[in-house]
Amino acid sequence: MANDQPFILAGVMGWPVAHSRSPALHTHWIREHGLKGSYVLLPVAPDLLGDAVRGLRALGFAGCNITIPHKVAAMPLVDHIDPVAQRIGAINTIVVNKDGSLSGYNHDGFGYIQSLLQAQPGWRADTGPITVLGAGGAARAVLVALIDQGATEIRLCNRSLDKAQALADELGAPIRAVPWSQRHEALRGAALLVNTTSLGMKGQDPLDLALDPLPVTALVSDIIYVPMQTPLLAQALARGNPVVNGLGMLLHQARPAFASWFGVMPEVTPSLRHAIEATL
Ligand code: NAP
Repeated sequence: MANDQPFILAGVMGWPVAHSRSPALHTHWIREHGLKGSYVLLPVAPDLLGDAVRGLRALGFAGCNITIPHKVAAMPLVDHIDPVAQRIGAINTIVVNKDGSLSGYNHDGFGYIQSLLQAQPGWRADTGPITVLGAGGAARAVLVALIDQGATEIRLCNRSLDKAQALADELGAPIRAVPWSQRHEALRGAALLVNTTSLGMKGQDPLDLALDPLPVTALVSDIIYVPMQTPLLAQALARGNPVVNGLGMLLHQARPAFASWFGVMPEVTPSLRHAIEATL
């Protein structure tokens, strides 16, 4: 480690935030790359978010991640918002620029696409229809990323149809809103199925979905990572579909943020996966 290396400080703002895997993730990379720095938990109550974000520069932070419940509320607190984050409608990363200004980014969609590519290197978004379940915050990032990757048809099924329709209206073609009752039929001929609902998460009901109309060649992805194998993924594996769990999205979304603060683009290696899996 070079002695003249600056000490770099970053962290994650959330409320609560004690459960976050981000410190383990970024600390792994700080050590792997022999950097001087620290990544800390920043529990910030909603009414203090403005003070906390404006204090980043004074406290010497290179930036921070922004997590639940601050991803939308932090947007008006930064000076510039990256166009992708603007379309997603939320930020998950703040960078303190050299001139002291703050820039907001959202790398969740990048993380999602990278997780698919790491699992299936030849994956492309334009090989067939994509069925997305859920129209919450995470779905917005997944949808923007799939559109930017060239998706030609996205069937968006959500329990509250109005939310799916609003997203289809806002993000435009190729999204078509589909009623929740038609989710099984919406799998017919799909090349990719994505679950972005919270169904199947530890402590939640499993997703009720009959996979019969889904081709066995379709990639099935669930962005949930606790548990890593959701009932949906178990069901898909049992009939022979290739699957991707949500851990890759969590790991890959952290890479560009780390690069902007620490100056090194880190990789998602088996040892990182094992280290984070051990915390789940
Ligand atoms: P959110 O904004 O609260 O959205 C939840 C979604 O689940 C909505 O579409 C909601 O439908 C649907 N839903 C909830 N209960 C349902 C039920 N009983 N029946 C049918 N649909 C139901 O949450 P989010 O932030 O998007 O997160 C969703 C999931 O993604 C969570 O499990 C989270 O852990 C995971 N996630 C993973 C990553 C990662 O890095 N891997 C990143 C972000 C999130 P309505 O619109 O009808 O309420």
